[in-house]
Amino acid sequence: MKKTKSRQNIRKALVFGMFLLFPVIINYLSPAVILMGASEGIITGSAILFGLLFLSSLFFGRAWCGWVCTASGLHQACTAVTDRKAKTGWGNVLRFIIWLVWLAMIILTFVRAGGVRGVDPLYMTENGISFLGSEMIIFVYLIVVIMAFVMVLIWGNRALCKYLCWMAPFMIIGNKIRYALKIPGVYLKPKKDLCIQCKKCTTVCPMDIDVEAMVQKENCQHNECIMCLQCADVCPKGAIKG
Ligand code: SF4
Ligand code: SF4
Repeated sequence: MKKTKSRQNIRKALVFGMFLLFPVIINYLSPAVILMGASEGIITGSAILFGLLFLSSLFFGRAWCGWVCTASGLHQACTAVTDRKAKTGWGNVLRFIIWLVWLAMIILTFVRAGGVRGVDPLYMTENGISFLGSEMIIFVYLIVVIMAFVMVLIWGNRALCKYLCWMAPFMIIGNKIRYALKIPGVYLKPKKDLCIQCKKCTTVCPMDIDVEAMVQKENCQHNECIMCLQCADVCPKGAIKG
């Protein structure tokens, strides 16, 4: 139990650290910067990162969301404000509609710019630091943080991840591919025989997944799972390995 507690402490420290770094790295996570680069025919650092996230999801699922993402740090902090969780539903579909429109805009913008003319990983940054690249960044940063917080207050924790995140669809698609092709990597491994149906795993899951039901089916594959491993670490019987 001590080992699993320290694993979660490391995870929390990582996401809090990333949240503090948000103004420094915001342009690498920005959907707008990809479009700005596309208008000049440039593949930006954010476009490269999004491609890498898709590749990583083929092996690690959405572990980025649980262990690295800046929004994860914010949502972790929001657990002190509310223990309500955003529900899975229409918002998940809305996220994909917004994502498809955005993707179409990127392609059209590249076409209008005459195709890809270059790659600039440091685009819109000063030596890789976002807030030095544009005075608008702090303003954008505050808007994103306030928006995520308001969404938590209205719909519950992780509402941004479930209803709006422009990075999640890349990883959900990658996740579906890895499940379908059974690509070796990090998976939750349930052991139904050990489970005493206490539901602690379901209670702790930040993505409002009925983990206990998945354990009963001996199938822990779920599009919203962010591989945070909190369910595995809270289980008193070790019925979930991760
Ligand atoms: S926490 Fe463990 S024992 Fe309890 S319901 Fe979940 S898998 Fe079963
Ligand atoms: S199912 Fe487990 S690993 Fe996945 S999000 Fe929920 S608590 Fe985290």
